[in-house]
Amino acid sequence: MRFARLLVIGLPLSAGFSVRPLVSKRPPYHPAPLSMSEQQQDAPKTYPPPNAVPDGMKTYEAMHKQSLEEPDTFWGDAARSTLKWFRDFDRVSQGGFDTGDVAWFTGGQLNACYNCIDQHLPQRAKQVAILHEGDEPGVVTKITYEDLLGQVCRMANAMKELGVKKGDFVTLYMPMVPEAAVAMLACARLGAPHSVVFAGFSAEALRDRIVDANSKWVFTTDEGRRGGKTLHLKSIVDKAVEDADCVEKVLVITATGAKVPMGKRDVQMSEMLPRMRPYCPCETMDSEDLLFILYTSGSTGRPKGVAHTTAGYLLYTGMTTKHAFGLEEGDVFACVADVGWITGHSYIVYGPLVNGATSLMFESTPMYPNHGRYWDVVQRHKVTQFYTAPTAIRALMSCGPEIISDYDLSSLRVLGSVGEPINPEAWRWYNEHVGKGKCHIVDTFWQTETGGHVMLPLANVTPTKPGSCSFPFFGIEPAVLNAQTGEEVTGNDVEGVLAFKRPWPSLARTVYGDHKRYMDVYLNPYKGYYFTGDGCHRDSDGFYWITGRVDDVLNVSGHRIGTAEVESALVLHPAVSEAAVVGFPDPIKGQAICCYVTFVSGYTESPELLKELVKQVATHIGPFARPGMIVGTPGLPKTRSGKIMRRILRKIAEGEADKLGDTSTLADPSIVEGLVEKANALL
Ligand code: ATP
Ligand code: MG
Repeated sequence: MRFARLLVIGLPLSAGFSVRPLVSKRPPYHPAPLSMSEQQQDAPKTYPPPNAVPDGMKTYEAMHKQSLEEPDTFWGDAARSTLKWFRDFDRVSQGGFDTGDVAWFTGGQLNACYNCIDQHLPQRAKQVAILHEGDEPGVVTKITYEDLLGQVCRMANAMKELGVKKGDFVTLYMPMVPEAAVAMLACARLGAPHSVVFAGFSAEALRDRIVDANSKWVFTTDEGRRGGKTLHLKSIVDKAVEDADCVEKVLVITATGAKVPMGKRDVQMSEMLPRMRPYCPCETMDSEDLLFILYTSGSTGRPKGVAHTTAGYLLYTGMTTKHAFGLEEGDVFACVADVGWITGHSYIVYGPLVNGATSLMFESTPMYPNHGRYWDVVQRHKVTQFYTAPTAIRALMSCGPEIISDYDLSSLRVLGSVGEPINPEAWRWYNEHVGKGKCHIVDTFWQTETGGHVMLPLANVTPTKPGSCSFPFFGIEPAVLNAQTGEEVTGNDVEGVLAFKRPWPSLARTVYGDHKRYMDVYLNPYKGYYFTGDGCHRDSDGFYWITGRVDDVLNVSGHRIGTAEVESALVLHPAVSEAAVVGFPDPIKGQAICCYVTFVSGYTESPELLKELVKQVATHIGPFARPGMIVGTPGLPKTRSGKIMRRILRKIAEGEADKLGDTSTLADPSIVEGLVEKANALL
């Protein structure tokens, strides 16, 4: 995720990858018990929440119980106290998983932009809403709630003048400049669903998404900057729209001021915006009107245009921001994701702003100009909550913790993680070196499709275990299912696939233009449940552990082994920086384990070291998990959002490097070329 390359929740596309499970295609079930790795069993049993709220867990349990037993009261009260309505709703919830006709707060009318800005003006006009830290350290822009309203309204009025109407799809291909958030909010104000495409995608990937959404409008900037490098965004858009006939106008915002060629469809926004009136009325939207679509990361296949509606999404992201991170008046909330991913939508823009918080937007990378950049940002802005991804934490770990002590991080209270399972070793590093043992570590499990956090600890409330995402949020009723039979596995110390038993407000309502795919991927595999696609373990204390995607689970001699588990055992070794584990066919065991590892600087690959790593896995998990092959590599193939693309590693390990499928979303294709050569020599 350049930083973003190092970060956030996921994305890209991989055409040609088949849609996952129909009932007949359920993952095979292997009855052998999953033995959790020793580092999980030996982990300090539980960390109590720092600065614990008195009776916090009791209150959480009571509220969670109410949210399931009296959902209409719980969510109805929450919606009326959290959101401002133009018209009150008639019904709290309706519809279900059978046909995917879920709807929340029907009859209600509101506007998401009004809720994120206008409603706060009486109390917060002069408070900073968006605190932007530019690519160069210390280049800071502060936008108050009052300023934000003016900027959003100017943008919305310009869009109106250009012809944007309620219901039109607007694509954004923007760097992490404040105008990205401004444009999203302007879309929301006009009721024009946005489709943000991460500004690291190729012209081709962008074109596919523009065409899929039949978008007439595309926002971009002249250029972008990230990690000291220039991104030539306008020229990528030029290529993307060449044969995207649906596009009527490209709205070009000035970011670096570079001279870029302007064509017939291009509009120079810097000329238009100053003429615009700084107030624009809000469109009245129904609760179930689309707020946005967002294409998922493509870790597992062709990207889906996940569709979110207005009221439920806004309510749920607002509530999760508040409870996961323990928001307080005066906080500076920093989610260092990119707005191109769901994490940026929910926890940079909508969640923090609906709460009236100060949201930090970070344009750079954790490594620019050096690996102390995050901590420099925390120190200068006195950040109170910091939210990043395991891939960034692992990258920083491999540089050593020394640099952290140059900075004053005493403002921090909560440290969040999202995107992948966090290895216990990385969790502990984050806790000790960044949090100094005083911050609450919140490992938040969720998906583009869930809109907001579904499994998570609540700040200052929930005890934590390194590597576990702990418990469900309000209204979430998790179930562990036997992958084969679809039956619910009850009790503790069990494993299976993670599913949810009832809809919650921010559940995605469909895959844009393809409701059948929505049903087939999420609601049909296990009738009556929302299927996450992730494996999980509920331990003897009822804590949930995500073991990786079901597609990635290994079956070695009848033992089910989660990729996350083996990877965590490898990362525990001082020489290993990152690890990715996949299976490959073995005539005796069915599947054998192949591990791809990157080394911490100062260590080099040697036969002795590789032997040590094999031993490491065998001791930490069990001899049955002994890897059949370990491949050292300078890097792992990742999506542009920083997630490991195991499906590519699997193909390489299976000796099918000629059938890698769509690799256009790889952040660095040269890594794959190197690996194919190396694996071919080993196989
Ligand atoms: P696609 O659906 O296109 O394959 P993706 O699943 O990577 O892409 P996202 O919605 O960004 O797209 O990611 C959600 C997935 O990320 C989850 O299903 C899970 O596998 C993983 N994930 C996210 N947060 C966590 C977490 N805290 N712990 C474990 N896994 C997580
Ligand atoms: Mg997914």
